[in-house]
Amino acid sequence: MRHSILIASVTTLMLFYQATGHGSEADNAPVLGADKAMELPISDAHFHVIPTFMEPDALLKMMDSQRIKWAGGAGYMAPDARMARFHKAMGQRLRLYGGQRESVNAYAKHGAEPFENLSHPAAAEMLSQIEAGLKDGRFKGIGELHVNTLYTAPMKPGLRRKLPVDSPTFKAVFDLARKYKAPVDMHIEWDADTVEQMERILTSYPSVPVKLAHCGKTSTAGDIRALMTKYSNVHCDLSSRPGKHRYHTPSIVIFTADGFQQDDWRKVIEEFPDRFTVGIDDVESWSEYETVVGVIRKGLLAHLSPATAGKVAYKNADRLYGGQ
Ligand SMILES: [Zn+2]
Repeated sequence: MRHSILIASVTTLMLFYQATGHGSEADNAPVLGADKAMELPISDAHFHVIPTFMEPDALLKMMDSQRIKWAGGAGYMAPDARMARFHKAMGQRLRLYGGQRESVNAYAKHGAEPFENLSHPAAAEMLSQIEAGLKDGRFKGIGELHVNTLYTAPMKPGLRRKLPVDSPTFKAVFDLARKYKAPVDMHIEWDADTVEQMERILTSYPSVPVKLAHCGKTSTAGDIRALMTKYSNVHCDLSSRPGKHRYHTPSIVIFTADGFQQDDWRKVIEEFPDRFTVGIDDVESWSEYETVVGVIRKGLLAHLSPATAGKVAYKNADRLYGGQ
């Protein structure tokens, strides 16, 4: 008798939890786990060729050993001759974006003017270089565009700045993206004015996939949820959100090797499993490269449901950014 009262109470409690929405399906789904996360292929959707130590052969070897299918989704600073060797050796395993070097150099030389004034010669030069790369297939997208990076970019010339996202020059960049069906990767800090400007761009260019570099860098999970709910062309790369650089504050850390630091991020990834990708971003050595891949596997993929982990690891990037 006592036993059946207990069962009845537990059943009532379970019904109550279901009725009040506690424990949604995604929350109760089993996670992938570390062992399986170590085996997943990864498509690296935020990668920079680092000229100080990377060579094409060593990069390919490292990608093979770490089960990285392809790398790209962001730009580079190296000169064209050097990049040509990477393109030749790596073929479709390198899917770089263009315009980062041109945009950083334009700002280092001329400040904000080329970005605010479309008739500035440096703006025209930047746009023609981007278009040339999109036309001949060297560029698979446009970026990484450092739009609002005042506190979250390396202290290098031209990299730290705050520009209007919907300026005539950036609109011209988006015109190119629309014309060549190219995604745009943008690094923005989550200031209210920047987000407002970006929303105007998202509304004006619904056919252009926008990848938020580092998922908006200083954004909260709630910020990203709100944006993804409103705009179907917004995607997010989770690179650099373990916060490895000194200029990151702890509040922006989404995951570490130990797992999610903020559960709401896990929830938003499970709510929008088709929008998130991973990336290794800039590293200073091969050992750091290996460490970052390990953190992505153990700290992020292992803690997602198996279906979502596969999408975030490579399926989304392959679908959105064309790598196979
Ligand atoms: Zn980057």
